[in-house]
Amino acid sequence: MKALVLEGVEQLILKDVEKPTCDKDGMLIKVMANGVCRSDWHKWHGHYSRKYPMILGHEMCGIVEEAGELVERFKAGDRVMIPVSGSEGTCDMCKSGHGNLCESYLVPGIGYNGGFAEYVAVPYADRNAEYLPDNLSFEEGAILSCRYITGFKGVVEAAKVKIGEWVAVYGCGGVGLASVATASKMGGFVIAVDIKEEALKIAEEMGADYVINASKEDPVEAIKKITKGKGVDAAIEALGNKNVVVQCFNSLGKLGRLIQLGVTQLGPEGDASIPINPLVQGELSIVGSLSSPIQGFKPMLELVAAGKLNVKPLLTETCCLSDVVSVFKRMDNNDVVGAVVVNDFTK
Ligand SMILES: [Zn+2]
Ligand SMILES: [Zn+2]
Repeated sequence: MKALVLEGVEQLILKDVEKPTCDKDGMLIKVMANGVCRSDWHKWHGHYSRKYPMILGHEMCGIVEEAGELVERFKAGDRVMIPVSGSEGTCDMCKSGHGNLCESYLVPGIGYNGGFAEYVAVPYADRNAEYLPDNLSFEEGAILSCRYITGFKGVVEAAKVKIGEWVAVYGCGGVGLASVATASKMGGFVIAVDIKEEALKIAEEMGADYVINASKEDPVEAIKKITKGKGVDAAIEALGNKNVVVQCFNSLGKLGRLIQLGVTQLGPEGDASIPINPLVQGELSIVGSLSSPIQGFKPMLELVAAGKLNVKPLLTETCCLSDVVSVFKRMDNNDVVGAVVVNDFTK
C-alpha cells in the first residue's frame, strides 16, 4: 500500500509499504480522509516526537475493512472516525474517564502508524473509534477527529461559557474556528482574532460577532474597546504562540479564564511570561485542555450531524498524499487557511 513515511527531520517519503494486519482487539481501516494538521508539521520539523520511521497522520476517517475477533462495537463496512486521543484503557487516567491523558499515548502517527496511508491498524478498536454519522463526509469527519473536538471541548468543558459572556478566540485555524462556532452556539459574544482576512471571513461565517486583524491593530486594545473597558470572560488560545498567550491573558476581565489549547515550542523558548499580580487581583485562571476522551466525541458528532454546529466552512482544500510536503512548506509561511484534507491515497 502507499504511505507517507517520516524517516527523519523533514524526510517525509511516499513509498510502498506492507499492508498492516490488525490485532484481535484492533481493526483494519481503509482510510478515506486524513487532515493535514499543524502538529504533523511540528513532527515533520522534528519539534517533538522524533520516532522514525513513522507513518504520520492522526486526523482520520475511513471504512472498517476487518475487525478483530474481540471487537464488539464495529464490523466490516462501518464508517468510522478515529479520535486523535487514543488510549489503552487500563491506566489510572483511562479508568477515571480521562483517556485523552492516557499514559500509553496511543495517538495515531505518534504511538502507532497513522492515516497518511491506504490502511491503518487501529489498536483497542472498541475504545479508539466512533461511528461517523451518515450525513457527514469523511473529510468533515477528519477535521472533527482532532481540531474540531479540541476547540469544542475547550469551550464547553474548560471555558464553560455562559450565555451572554464575552469570548475572545485567538487564532482562526481549525481549533480556533471550532471554538468560535461552539462559543457562539453557547450564547457567547465572540471576538475572533487572526492576522489573515480569509481566516477572519470564515470566523464570521462560523458565528464570530466581531473580528480583529492583529496585523493591523493591537488585539488587546481592540478587545478592551469592544467590551467597553471590561475585557473578556474567556480567552481561547488556539495557536500555540507564547506571545499570543500573554495577549490572551491581557484580554481578560475580572474572573476571566484563559483556556490554553495551542501547544508552544518545546523547552524554555515556548514558555510564556504571565503577569502575576493581575492574576491574583482579578482572580483569573489559566486552564489547559487537550483534545477529549472518547466519550466526548459522540455529543459533538450528534450536534454537527444535526446541523447545530457547522464544520463545512473549515474544509478549504483536498489533496493527495504527495501534496502533503508542499502543504507543510506553506505552513512554514503561515499560508494555509482552514483545513487541508488528504482524500486521495493512490499517489
Ligand atoms: Zn490534528
Ligand atoms: Zn490509559
